[in-house]
Amino acid sequence: MLDIATKNWVEISKSALVANVEAIKRPLKPGVNFMAVVKSNAYGHGIAPTVRAIGKKVDWFGVDSVIEAEEVKKFAGQKQPNILILGHTPSTAHHRVIQPGFRQVVYDRPTILSLAKLAKPKRPAKIHLKIETGTSRQGMLIDDLSSFLRWIKQKKSIQLEGLYTHFANIEDTSDPIYALKQLKRFKTAVAITESLIGRPKILHTACSAAALLYPETQFDLVRVGISLYGMWPSELTQENVKLVGNRVILKPALTWKTRIVQIKNIARGTPISYGLTEKVSRNSKIAVLPIGYWDGFDRGWSSIASVLVHGKRAKVLGRVCMNMCIVDVTDIRSAQPGDEVVLLGQQGKENIRAEELAAKIGTINYEVVTRINPLLPRIIVE
Ligand SMILES: *Cc1c(COP(=O)(O)O)cnc(C)c1O
Repeated sequence: MLDIATKNWVEISKSALVANVEAIKRPLKPGVNFMAVVKSNAYGHGIAPTVRAIGKKVDWFGVDSVIEAEEVKKFAGQKQPNILILGHTPSTAHHRVIQPGFRQVVYDRPTILSLAKLAKPKRPAKIHLKIETGTSRQGMLIDDLSSFLRWIKQKKSIQLEGLYTHFANIEDTSDPIYALKQLKRFKTAVAITESLIGRPKILHTACSAAALLYPETQFDLVRVGISLYGMWPSELTQENVKLVGNRVILKPALTWKTRIVQIKNIARGTPISYGLTEKVSRNSKIAVLPIGYWDGFDRGWSSIASVLVHGKRAKVLGRVCMNMCIVDVTDIRSAQPGDEVVLLGQQGKENIRAEELAAKIGTINYEVVTRINPLLPRIIVE
């Protein structure tokens, strides 16, 4: 239930999330497992509603932190899912990984030593070793792999369940050359591992774009984030997926809403909001919205973004404030206090997409949705 004092909130469409999981699964090779990546509050959609909506449809959840893993576990219900922590866990919190049986990414020996101390040979710590193949972020260099594997073989309370890597340049190019280079390095790492300690149970490399574009990246599991929520990793990915003959329809699952709190008429030439950065160019009707940059409505949208009122676009006037902003409803005659406003999503025939808002401030859809303040309520709708 929505708190009756709530002034802006996020609605998550269960049917859209379910349809997206099915649409992404369809072109996968048979037997490939599906990991729903729900880090960053499920890309702003809320861990609770997302896990509740698709928990039964996916094999794994991917999170960034042990705190997020605990949240997934809490909302997953009876059938406890497999959860992989893709980000760093401070060693002081390793017991919170071991006790519930979460999987942890590792890339160095100190992490293994700490996990091994807390686990038992009868119930080993299940780890996924990340290989550095060219993203130059988190991961072990292939040069260090052999000696590491020989060392880990002695650790009876550690089980190397997974081996994985992450691509640096799939979304932003049509040229697969760098990705293929990374894939080749990953296969080298797999071969070294097989020869020294046997094939790990789960090999994985693919994010959304890789899973949809290059079947050879799918291995045993795909790690799907942005597309699960109904957004494309990039426009280029969307085009390229069409070119490779995959027909995938994604439905944005998130609608961000508020309500008008005040309406008034002001004379032509009147300045609006802090800094007097914009003056209305005609006699205007303005609406005050209880939403600002604290909520995640970026200050960069001052004077340039629009919102939807009665299915029509209303432009933001002047600066977005911390908890409020002002929009132009001069052409929306019947607008009045209490009316619902859509900041992101569909209203009537109009639609404001995360990509549109992202382009206005030089960023990507990922950032727009993950920045919606996690304290705002998320509710599930059909
Ligand atoms: C965030 C993340 C993903 C998901 O990427 P999308 O482009 O959102 O599908 C997959 N793998 C790793 C390691 C990630 O950090």
